[in-house]
Amino acid sequence: MSFASDTESALVSAAVLVNTARGGRELLPDQAALTALLDADNWTGRRDGTADELHAVQALRPRLLELWGVTDVDQAVVMVNALLEESGAQPRLARHDDLGWHLHVTADDAPLADRMAAEAAMGVLDLIRSGEFTRLRWCESDKCDAVLVDLSRNRSKRYCDTGNCGNRAHVAAYRARKSVR
Ligand SMILES: [Zn+2]
Ligand SMILES: [Zn+2]
Repeated sequence: MSFASDTESALVSAAVLVNTARGGRELLPDQAALTALLDADNWTGRRDGTADELHAVQALRPRLLELWGVTDVDQAVVMVNALLEESGAQPRLARHDDLGWHLHVTADDAPLADRMAAEAAMGVLDLIRSGEFTRLRWCESDKCDAVLVDLSRNRSKRYCDTGNCGNRAHVAAYRARKSVR
């Protein structure tokens, strides 16, 4: 199963955002951290650079985290539909920079947190309608409470992408590849 690139990037972005609140730490403490996150993720559209905007994005994280917290798809559907409604989602096709036609879920001038909420909701929507909701999972490292989205063909992703866990898994995979060569 492979998903649309819109879906994949929306889900990865959602996981990255949720993981800025992992382990009881605040990894999105200020505007600079938010700007770095947005730039790393190639977010376009409106950015206010205000405290209100930062707080709205911070407050979105527990809402998105709930999607990883449920196993019942029907519950997830309620959450996704609520996020879409509250964020004023208006799906449309857009093209800019060197990207081809792709999905924008809200108007470009919608508040940042609303756009992030709507994008995440659309990503999860796509998982659910494909019968793939279980791809929202948690990192299997003992010392880690990060979330992940498993977009691998064979559902083999076990570790998050936040740093150590992913590196460890990567090193293990590299060794495994070398040993079969
Ligand atoms: Zn775009
Ligand atoms: Zn991890």
